[in-house]
Amino acid sequence: MIALALVNNKGGVGKTTSAVNLAAGLVAEGYKVLLADLDAQGSASLSLGLSRADLSPGAAEVVLDGHPVRGAIRATYVEGLDILAGSVRLASADLILSNVTGREAVLRAVLGPIRADYDFLVMDCPPSLGLLTVNALTTADYFLVPITPDYLALEGLVNLLDAVDRVRTNIGKAADLLGLVLTMVDHRLNVTAEISELIRRHYGRQVFRTEIRGNVRLKEAPSYGRTIFDYDRGSTGAEAYRALTQEVLTRIKKA
Ligand code: ADP
Ligand code: MG
Repeated sequence: MIALALVNNKGGVGKTTSAVNLAAGLVAEGYKVLLADLDAQGSASLSLGLSRADLSPGAAEVVLDGHPVRGAIRATYVEGLDILAGSVRLASADLILSNVTGREAVLRAVLGPIRADYDFLVMDCPPSLGLLTVNALTTADYFLVPITPDYLALEGLVNLLDAVDRVRTNIGKAADLLGLVLTMVDHRLNVTAEISELIRRHYGRQVFRTEIRGNVRLKEAPSYGRTIFDYDRGSTGAEAYRALTQEVLTRIKKA
């Protein structure tokens, strides 16, 4: 199992949209994928059509209560895509885990029994650098950072990459950066072009060639509980996530 984490401590940058549609993109390539929704909002779970009443047992029970992982994983409507749902109890994770020894590696440990069942694990992280994100970075082989092309996003990026280095220093193992993904790109805005160029100049090949443009179909799909490929497979959003999936696979093969 290759584990990927979508990480950015800023909210609203496209983590969940990218986690859901990258997971679905990998399934479309024939891989068996587990999506772990580590956000208390449960947005990734709801985006795949799970109902709010049906989010537990999920990630919270497995990570915080020691609930067996197999009993918490459920199938989604997408054949080949399973999910560990996110729920509001994840909001207490920092508090509950703070006294646990090995608190940075709980997720990695509890996922042990199902590693052989999947080709990929895709983790959707909360908008913080708290213990759940640290656990995701400890579990992941690679992390991806969705980033919107605006000035404040750039500032946050430096803090984020520093935080990942701290995790690596503290526990000796952490994910490698697979790439930064520019999301919600709107080329009608001058600031977009400027910042995109700045990011590409500064981070070079660490930035995925594929850009995810602003696309209303990507915004609509979650309310129908569908991935972009099922909601509108011909949309620019679907095309972008197909291209990102290919680029992710290529980068992993080269790594
Ligand atoms: P995060 O998980 O980082 O908070 P989301 O993926 O939930 O970010 O995205 C935030 C909002 O922006 C959501 O309403 C989502 O539907 C919307 N969104 C995400 N990506 C796009 C895009 N490329 N085009 C248009 N809307 C988008
Ligand atoms: Mg999210």
